[in-house]
Amino acid sequence: MAIERISLRALITGLLLAVILITIAHTVVAKLQFRRAALDYRIQNLSRVIEVAALEIMRQTRGHAIVLGSSLQQRLSLRDDAPLLTPLTEPFTKGFVEARHLDLVQLRVYDPQLRLLGAGRQHDIPALPATLLTQAKERQGAERFKALGGLWLAPQGPLYSILVPVGGLHLDGYLEVVLNPLFNLRNVHEMIHMPFGIHDSGGEELIHPAGIIEDDPRYVTVDYELRDVDDALVLRLVAYEDIDLLYSDMHRTQVVTTISFFSLTVVLLILALWLLNRYLFQPVHIMINEMEHSLHDANNTLLIRHGIKEVHLVAAAFNTMAAQVREIIHELHRISALDGLTGIANRRAFNQALEREWLRAVRRRTTLSLLLIDIDYFKQYNDSYGHQAGDECLKDIANAINLEVQRPTDMVARYGGEEFVVLLPETDAAGAGSVAARLQQTVATLAIPHQASGISDSISMSIGICTMNPGKDNHSEQLIAGADTALYRAKAGGRNRVEFARAGDLPPLATPQTAD
Ligand code: GH3
Ligand code: MG
Ligand code: MG
Repeated sequence: MAIERISLRALITGLLLAVILITIAHTVVAKLQFRRAALDYRIQNLSRVIEVAALEIMRQTRGHAIVLGSSLQQRLSLRDDAPLLTPLTEPFTKGFVEARHLDLVQLRVYDPQLRLLGAGRQHDIPALPATLLTQAKERQGAERFKALGGLWLAPQGPLYSILVPVGGLHLDGYLEVVLNPLFNLRNVHEMIHMPFGIHDSGGEELIHPAGIIEDDPRYVTVDYELRDVDDALVLRLVAYEDIDLLYSDMHRTQVVTTISFFSLTVVLLILALWLLNRYLFQPVHIMINEMEHSLHDANNTLLIRHGIKEVHLVAAAFNTMAAQVREIIHELHRISALDGLTGIANRRAFNQALEREWLRAVRRRTTLSLLLIDIDYFKQYNDSYGHQAGDECLKDIANAINLEVQRPTDMVARYGGEEFVVLLPETDAAGAGSVAARLQQTVATLAIPHQASGISDSISMSIGICTMNPGKDNHSEQLIAGADTALYRAKAGGRNRVEFARAGDLPPLATPQTAD
């Protein structure tokens, strides 16, 4: 389609619609693009949440274990070699285990040099990891009165031990509280509120998440690893994120965002269209109409009330240009109505004036007279005095006739060559005759020498007059024809005279109403 056939309104509306489509496309692309990124971000966050939950659980567990150890140490008398096993085997666990704080596996007592003195239950628990023991032994001074513990891996599974100092200010030894950490780590589930499981270092599942089947594609897993003092993997905590749920949240957010964004875009577009329509399209439309109109109406100027700045500038420029064009056209009209040599009206202007005055006379039922003037022996004048002198002569005569005929509605024109016409509205034959006589007199007064004239020493003219009452039954051409016949008769009658058209001089196509 050619660009010049597209309107401003269509172009801008099209562009705005394109903006809407691009917005929609952008939303769709962004949705696909950021889905993965959102999931990665979510997993990263979850991993951190599990870490914090696991560390908090281990901190609480340590606290409970220390409280348990402290409460039991009054019943241990390491120095007196009292039977160790009684307090280590019997009721010590009750309070804590029944309160579900801890799952106690074993209690063991050590002397201050951390040599094992005795153990509680019958469990076959291996000795503490060497690294933990070394750490405890290497402590000096007040440090030795602090509890020390950590996760470690026994053949039975993961264990958590804490060495609680016994004896108050006088260090009698240590009580080792050995726990099953799974019992407490289970509670991570309550903190993170999502399916949660625990795997051992070999990848075996120790706690299975409720409601999750193996390799369920609906879930992605998020890990957090718990390590022993030697930095070996002890347990892996695994949370299960429901992708559908995550995506449905994302989807809801996206729908809300998209609808809001889309609505906002539409509202803005409607506003933009309204503004453009009121301040651009409509003013431009009005301007185009008025521009077309101003071609026909000389007084029309563009008046734009609600246009933007550019519209006003264009309108102002057009007004200036239109005024100049009108001036030029006016001048052209004026020039085109004038005869180049004599400066009086030309034949074209005469024809228009004749039509106008004829119709006016028909309307007003008035008389219209026409004088057809022809200079006598003008060919000879040219031959005698030269063509240039002939031109000067024509100018003088035209000027003289023009000055003589002074009524505003009268009209003098050069009919052609050395012929002039005088149109006299509302003038009867007698009036026309007196005008003709006056004109002959005026020209005679000019006394332009004409030796070659066959009738006078100076320039003279013959005049044919026709007077009519214009109506439906006659025509303006008859007026000219009548005057021409009368002029011919004046020439034939010896020249330098005035003749009136008579009945029968007019062409037969219409009946003249008056013919003198
Ligand atoms: P008649 O008395 O029968 O009218 O004789 P005439 O010589 O005037 O008539 P004719 O029509 O034979 O000649 C008209 C002459 O007018 C012809 C031409 O040389 C001259 N003429 C016409 N137009 C112009 C013009 O513009 N300038 C000059 N210098 N002469 C013109
Ligand atoms: Mg002639
Ligand atoms: Mg002549």
